[in-house]
Amino acid sequence: MRSFIHALPKVELHVHLVGSAGIDTVLELARRHPEAGVPADRAELERFYAFRDFDHFLKVFWAVQSMVKGRADIHTLVVGLARELARQNVRYAEVTVTPHNHLTDGMSGDELLAGLGSGRAEASALGVELAWCFDIPGEKGLVAGRETLAFALSERPDGLVSFGLGGPEEGVGRAQFAPFFDAARDAGLHSVPHAGETTGPETVWSAVRDLRAERIGHGTSCHQDPALLDHLALKGIPLEVCPTSNVRTRQVASIETHPVRQMLDAGVVVTLNTDDPPFFGATLEGEYLAVATALGLGRAEVAKLAENAVLASFLPNDRKTPLLQEIADVLTAVS
Ligand SMILES: [Zn+2]
Repeated sequence: MRSFIHALPKVELHVHLVGSAGIDTVLELARRHPEAGVPADRAELERFYAFRDFDHFLKVFWAVQSMVKGRADIHTLVVGLARELARQNVRYAEVTVTPHNHLTDGMSGDELLAGLGSGRAEASALGVELAWCFDIPGEKGLVAGRETLAFALSERPDGLVSFGLGGPEEGVGRAQFAPFFDAARDAGLHSVPHAGETTGPETVWSAVRDLRAERIGHGTSCHQDPALLDHLALKGIPLEVCPTSNVRTRQVASIETHPVRQMLDAGVVVTLNTDDPPFFGATLEGEYLAVATALGLGRAEVAKLAENAVLASFLPNDRKTPLLQEIADVLTAVS
């Protein structure tokens, strides 16, 4: 199963740029920015990186964020992610970037865009196509919403396909961001808010109704409302499920008890993703293997998950078709 999963051409739809920084990337950043106080020694950094609990995750995340200061740092992040994706035979990824955090840290918009652009070009040379989702850090409120929208629409960099909403959900209602999502959709960007990761199904309903979500980031709690599962299945609104992330942040007890089974049984389009992979000790191949093992899936069912990710992506159809064909070929070759 491990080699079968590797052979499948894969698509990643939910990964955060800063959260994708692996050890090699962080070593490079730490050596470039010694003043940040992040260990520049591999063994020490590995200890700092080891997942302890959610608060420690936030500590590591913000330490990495503090070293992302200019074009070169963004480039380092993008290329580090692309190398890791190439290693796992991931061909295409929609990567969440949070411009507000970088701009607030003092980076200029031009530097951010230059780093994304040069990183994307190098990723393409590695055989990985990258697209961007610009997301609002919800906890920063409407100011961040306005700024993210203005930046997305005025700059409109190559590869920008979608508009998102992340951060904590508790006390951060989705509906207040509706005007920004309306404007983003009018400009041709797809709506992909996080919802139902740390709060109940009502947040997913709000993402669907108020933000016209075309995919849901996580949606972990949607199984608590059968009508919601039916709605997502009927409307074909896919879920970006991140099983290991959900276990690590204690939203679910284990992969075995993850509601991914109820989602699949209800006919919802499930895609598997990593969220902040090195922080959670996750890889996309690992997510496929863990879910296949926990649910006792066969190769055809695993191939279907890979197919779901292609279909749920915002790739144009002429780019989806060869990936779907290749998945079918990989499946035929082993059966
Ligand atoms: Zn996320």
